[in-house]
Amino acid sequence: MKLVFASNNKNKIKEIKSLLPDTIQILSLEDIGCTEEIEETENTITGNAKLKADYITKKYGYDCFADDTGLEVEALGGAPGVYSARYAGENVTYEENAQKMLKEMKDKVNRKAQFKTVIVLNLMGKQYLFDGICEGEITNNKHGNGGFGYDPIFKPKGFEHTFAEMSLKEKGRISHRGLAVKKLVNFLKDKV
Ligand code: IMP
Repeated sequence: MKLVFASNNKNKIKEIKSLLPDTIQILSLEDIGCTEEIEETENTITGNAKLKADYITKKYGYDCFADDTGLEVEALGGAPGVYSARYAGENVTYEENAQKMLKEMKDKVNRKAQFKTVIVLNLMGKQYLFDGICEGEITNNKHGNGGFGYDPIFKPKGFEHTFAEMSLKEKGRISHRGLAVKKLVNFLKDKV
């Protein structure tokens, strides 16, 4: 089965490929010649995932799935949430976002946070939603060199290490995206 994953984020494509069986061939946006930026204009995680999947299916005619993820921090009223990629401003680096988060959380006692992923799948004219949540906390400093985004400052509940200190496999077993992809894979297994 060929499925487009509506992303050009190499980290995420690598992560998702490692979680899917070989029977499902994943094509990136680059693979299908989609070079335009799909603007994430919705104000919810689900809305943005749907927007991306629908754009590809409508314009290119492929079965497709798209994901959107947000980091929700309790002491910040759920921020940055849907704005996680642009927390420190437009076109910022992962490092700048992580530094802003550490600064905002400097004196906060409640460090509870969660990653939330929503995957929207368009398959044979129907739409399906899968979600995944990973609870944890924002650390006081950066730890580890792996992963991407907020990984060096997010420690999942029940673990002594941040996501950035885990292998791809270990992270995938417990992460928001891993859990959402597991639901997607279980669903797709019956179809291939
Ligand atoms: P996206 O919607 O999946 O692109 O995620 C939005 C932002 O959330 C990204 O730019 C990252 O900063 C952050 N993010 C998403 N997934 C992860 C993850 O697994 N670890 C750390 N940060 C992530």
